[in-house]
Amino acid sequence: MGIFVVIGGDAAGMSAASKAKRDDPELEVVVFEKGEWVSYGACGLPYYIKGEIQSLEDLVSITPEEFRKERDIDLRTGHEVTGIDPDDRAVTVERDGDEIRQPYDHLLIATGAKSVVPSIDGIDLEGVYTLGSMTDGKELRDFVARSREESPTEQPDRGPACHFLESCEGAVAVVGGGYIGVEMAEALAANDFEVHLFQRGRHVLKGFSEATSDTIAEHLREQDVALYLDTEVEALEGDDDVEAVRTADEQIEVEMVLLGTGVSPRTELAEDAGVELGPTGAIATDEYRETNRPDVYAAGDCAEAEHVVTGEPAYVPLALTANRHGRAVGQTVAGTLTEGGGIAGTAAVKAFEIEAARTGVIDHETAREAGFDPVTETIEAKSRAGYYPGGGTVGVTLTVDRDTGRVIGGCLVSEYGEGAVHRSHALVGAVTEGVTVSELSNYDLAYAPPFNTTWDPILTAAKVLGGKL
Ligand SMILES: Cc1cc2nc3c(=O)[nH]c(=O)nc-3n(C[C@H](O)[C@H](O)[C@H](O)COP(=O)(O)OP(=O)(O)OC[C@H]3O[C@@H](n4cnc5c(N)ncnc54)[C@H](O)[C@@H]3O)c2cc1C
Repeated sequence: MGIFVVIGGDAAGMSAASKAKRDDPELEVVVFEKGEWVSYGACGLPYYIKGEIQSLEDLVSITPEEFRKERDIDLRTGHEVTGIDPDDRAVTVERDGDEIRQPYDHLLIATGAKSVVPSIDGIDLEGVYTLGSMTDGKELRDFVARSREESPTEQPDRGPACHFLESCEGAVAVVGGGYIGVEMAEALAANDFEVHLFQRGRHVLKGFSEATSDTIAEHLREQDVALYLDTEVEALEGDDDVEAVRTADEQIEVEMVLLGTGVSPRTELAEDAGVELGPTGAIATDEYRETNRPDVYAAGDCAEAEHVVTGEPAYVPLALTANRHGRAVGQTVAGTLTEGGGIAGTAAVKAFEIEAARTGVIDHETAREAGFDPVTETIEAKSRAGYYPGGGTVGVTLTVDRDTGRVIGGCLVSEYGEGAVHRSHALVGAVTEGVTVSELSNYDLAYAPPFNTTWDPILTAAKVLGGKL
């Protein structure tokens, strides 16, 4: 019995609400969501913009009506929580200018993250977008649809930038080469835009191995993406609408700019309530996702979590963590103390016809800070038996600790459909359980010619690195 209040109606919030109500039907569960969408898959937005997914509704896994009627959850959309009073155990909520006060016995902060917007000249011009919400996704799809309606023949002069593609709709800029930037480059190129991708550092997909980043960069160029590495966007030019992107070296005419410059945890409510943040700037929690304020929990993109390799707090805002930690909080609130588990920083991405995954600690600086003596090896191997039709190449990068032989991280890359991402699951197990490279090389992995070679590329990489050690 009691009242469980949840702030935020997406992955973490609705997982918690559903699990708590399922385990304890007597519990009163109230969810406040400031927007109109709940339980949506923001991860699908690039594919919606690309045109592979027809409607925004397709991205919703459970509708508000289903939560209310079938799960008996008091879900209130259009309600923004504006304050938390942990001493009085109540939240203040605004709806259409009215204010209500809602008491709670347990509270989950699941407010997610917001897109980082760099403070450069011209950032407020029309035609500059972020992609952090369903509304952003809708606006971007509308932009694509509007541009497609104007056929290139009706607009003969697209300017000098449009030189890559015969049927080019116009030039667009993607700022940031993280996974959202890369996925959006694909989505926009598929709609015949000439895509200019700007990345501040030397590598796209920071956090993946350098070998993987290089493979993906090469592939982006093959796909006619104009890639500007080590290039900072200094300003956006235009009067009302954005017209160009300016770097230190040049000015590129574009009709749209997508910012994929990262996210930051939405922590204002928590901070105002005296909830402590951790070293990453996200909300600090214990292994049960409880904050420093009793019975106040935080999960998902607003919170940090302990890294399974370093043991230190890490901020890796991804969907499974939000679902897993939200569910664990729901179970705890319903009476069964449940740990959400740590994070390995596992991530996957598709870039045109390439797929890649990473897990654990790959870069040597982070590894050394965590007390390891890292050694890294990259191998390439066939994705299927040589005699089996089709197939391609899988690149495997492994990082291990020289002293103990422990596998601390890895990265895989292959042609799309050749299994880099599915193979990475074995590596996640190894990294999470702290196995040695020699133990990994003896993993009894599945084998059949259509899927791999007898020695799967992961085993080959482990053998090579074991030999090197
Ligand atoms: C374009 C895109 C692609 C992605 N692709 C992937 C992917 O491929 N794989 C992956 O693992 N992850 C991906 N992610 C990340 C994933 O979507 C997030 O990790 C996940 O949605 C986090 O869930 P959450 O519940 O913590 O936060 P959110 O999904 O951000 O939900 C938080 C909710 O809280 C609400 N809220 C905030 N403040 C208040 C308030 N004061 N009152 C009431 N409501 C409030 C917000 O409106 C929001 O609905 C992607 C994200 C984006 C944007």
